[in-house]
Amino acid sequence: MIENFDLLRETCLSCKNCKLWETRTNVVFGVGNPKAKVMFIGEGPGANEDLQGEPFVGRAGQLLDKMLMAVDLSREENVYIANMVKCRPPQNRDPEKEEVEACIGYLRNQVRLIQPKIIVCLGRIAACAVIDPNFKVTKQHGEFFERNGVTLMGTFHPAALLRYPSNKAAAMEDFFALREKLKTI
Ligand code: SF4
Repeated sequence: MIENFDLLRETCLSCKNCKLWETRTNVVFGVGNPKAKVMFIGEGPGANEDLQGEPFVGRAGQLLDKMLMAVDLSREENVYIANMVKCRPPQNRDPEKEEVEACIGYLRNQVRLIQPKIIVCLGRIAACAVIDPNFKVTKQHGEFFERNGVTLMGTFHPAALLRYPSNKAAAMEDFFALREKLKTI
């Protein structure tokens, strides 16, 4: 556990703990307010994120930003956004078990330092890792779970919403529920 957020970031930026370092352009550590009450967790960087070194940019990121704005949240002010693996898996494949195991310590360290009240998992891979290995996004999105004093929720990945826009309304309901939940903590 590294106690200083900047030091954690610096350590991560030079990490070579798994083979993904060989193909990355940038390490995508995370973005946002390290004192945020809400943390969003995705699976791993895509091509745009790898190029820019920031999570959730490109079309999916723009959609996420719009949804955040609709509930008075933004990466510039009051949320923190990070991924389970910090380097892009080639061809946007799912991160391998060994890669997640090598990288997850950074995310755990981020969570311990940020101490969010609510963690929102974006997509199946993050929700299965953080909430429940059998998590079904289509059935359980928007449900709140309590664990060790932290509220957890899973919802659709913004890239999946671009592929299946019919789920956008349901995803937005999850964000409205998040806004209501935030009022209670
Ligand atoms: S994915 Fe994580 S563990 Fe692997 S090289 Fe990147 S920062 Fe290190």
